[in-house]
Amino acid sequence: MKVEVPEYSLAESAPVDPSRTALIVVDMQNDFVRLDGALPIEDAAGTIGAIEQLRNFARRESIPVFYTQDSHYAGDPEFAIWGEHCCVGTDGWEIVQELAPDEALDDRVFRKDRYDGFFGTNLDTTLRQRGIDTLIICGTVANICVLYTAASAAIRWYHVILPVDAVSAITEFDLQLTIRQVGWLFQGTITRSSALCATESVG
Ligand code: ZN
Repeated sequence: MKVEVPEYSLAESAPVDPSRTALIVVDMQNDFVRLDGALPIEDAAGTIGAIEQLRNFARRESIPVFYTQDSHYAGDPEFAIWGEHCCVGTDGWEIVQELAPDEALDDRVFRKDRYDGFFGTNLDTTLRQRGIDTLIICGTVANICVLYTAASAAIRWYHVILPVDAVSAITEFDLQLTIRQVGWLFQGTITRSSALCATESVG
């Protein structure tokens, strides 16, 4: 079966107000990113550079950098679907070294045990406390944790920005359906990492 991907455009410039924006790095953990991990996503390592670029932008503009970390304990029902992965305390569970959170810079890590970074975490509360209404979302896996976190954000009326070069998927179809859902259904901004820029804060 062949399907046609509906057209979408990549925003050439994606301005954000740094005082109301957070960068969310989804599940860039060894089990997903390393080829010898428990659930390797072949394209994930290739997005590290783009995510570093986003993180540099965030650092420059004092935009908070928040991570989600898939976190499971023995007997987690998700293992029936995916097998054991991201078990708390293992090397596979750690965020990849290149993108390791820096506590000194106030990076925050939100441990989650489902696809949605808002489910069972205090991500929403943390964002609201800081007056954040715009999220740049990147990481892996596109149509799983990235999409469900983006969907959950949009349902709460956060504006979602998706830099496509900083998102990895198992298949091209999965990546395209993620872009379609975020851009069309959730009215997010589809762009590239290099397009992010800061606007002057209004009010
Ligand atoms: Zn998991």
